[in-house]
Amino acid sequence: MNMKELIELDKKHFIHPTSSIQLQQEKGAKLIIEKGEGIYLTTIDGKVFIDAMSSLWNVNIGHGRTEIAEVAMEQMKKLAYSSAFSTFSHEPAIMLAKKIADLAPPKLNAVFFTSGGSESNDSAIKLVRHYWKIQGQHDRNKIISLKRGYHGVAVGATSATGIPEFWNMAGHMETGFAHAKNPYEVGTIKSIASIREVIENEGPETVAALLVEPVQGAGGVLIPPSDYFQEVRKLCDEYGILFVADEVITGFGRTGKMFGIEHWNVEPDLITFAKGVTSGYFPLGGVIVSDEIHEVLKEKSEGVLFHGFTYSGHPTGAAVALKNIEILEHEGLVENSRLMGEELLKGLKEIKAELRIVGDVRTIGLLGAMEILHDPISPNLKLAPRVIEALHERGVICRAVTYDDSDIICFSPPLTITKEQIQTLIEKLRESVLTVKQELVSQ
Ligand code: PLP
Repeated sequence: MNMKELIELDKKHFIHPTSSIQLQQEKGAKLIIEKGEGIYLTTIDGKVFIDAMSSLWNVNIGHGRTEIAEVAMEQMKKLAYSSAFSTFSHEPAIMLAKKIADLAPPKLNAVFFTSGGSESNDSAIKLVRHYWKIQGQHDRNKIISLKRGYHGVAVGATSATGIPEFWNMAGHMETGFAHAKNPYEVGTIKSIASIREVIENEGPETVAALLVEPVQGAGGVLIPPSDYFQEVRKLCDEYGILFVADEVITGFGRTGKMFGIEHWNVEPDLITFAKGVTSGYFPLGGVIVSDEIHEVLKEKSEGVLFHGFTYSGHPTGAAVALKNIEILEHEGLVENSRLMGEELLKGLKEIKAELRIVGDVRTIGLLGAMEILHDPISPNLKLAPRVIEALHERGVICRAVTYDDSDIICFSPPLTITKEQIQTLIEKLRESVLTVKQELVSQ
């Protein structure tokens, strides 16, 4: 089918995730991607793009890995699917749970599987509430998270999300959720004070858990200060609150460590994950829980734990995840993420020094951001979307974040990216920022 025909069918039948329906109807799909290889995506009309976002922060091992397709095919031929409900089990899910337990911080050794990040966070929310309930603390059900945090679009995950735009679709967020100030905007001391204030206002005996991303991704790659999570851990311990790290973006090498929280050297009680665990080759996620929580669940749960998805522990998904993790390890991609992240930062700093409209630049592994400074004459003008457009014209896919007063360009390329490819990306970014700056001057 040609591009024009596909665009018409797309308009008629496909409701896109996180999209403007008016824009889709007016303009149609802009890119119809046909294939991917390494860091590149090719459209149906033959245009090649650098996928500088790893699509949705997830294609960590890069596109077009035929080894994964082969593993999926072998597993599908043997056992494509069978349930893991109750006492049913199968080797790929068992081996994946073990592998993830080996990679996770020492005290986190048991895994509940889901089909993605939102389900993982909703599962974690239900699990922590259940944990308190079976210990007789029925009122401990509130979830505190941070402003600008993003946790997904299931009902619980949406409510935990600290970007109010996401509550609009259903009209409001659910009760039982509250948000504190994030450390990127106000620093460690004020953010911890804000969480404490929220806990005290809600009533400490009603708070089940704190749910936080080690680095806020969709909020604009907001990297907390180096002492932040030690203070978070202390505060949670002081109030006896569980600490859930949402590693949906930061897990599986994205930040230059296997899990993002390792940068702060603390152990959460639960970790939620998805995305990089399969690099997008299969929809799979999960929740890793501490030995302490696992023990309580084993000892105190009565009857059936009424929570489980049809695809929890999907055998083909598990086989794909195991192969993906093997590739991450054998190709040294976590280390490459750290090294190439430094390379990316070097380039971002050079652009900042040369072009004066650039504000803060930052990376942690291959998760990076460039902020555009406010124009004093028109402070509401957002330039990041224009830079994204200019990048697009130069064959690069990136993402802008413009919530509140931010004007940020995000980067999250595949962890396979080379030094030369980073240099190409930086060169195209430099040209794009320069073009937007020149347009501004000539307006
Ligand atoms: N948590 C974080 C930190 C995310 O970035 C995302 C998605 O971008 C999610 C949760 C939701 O994951 P999913 O889109 O797989 O449901």
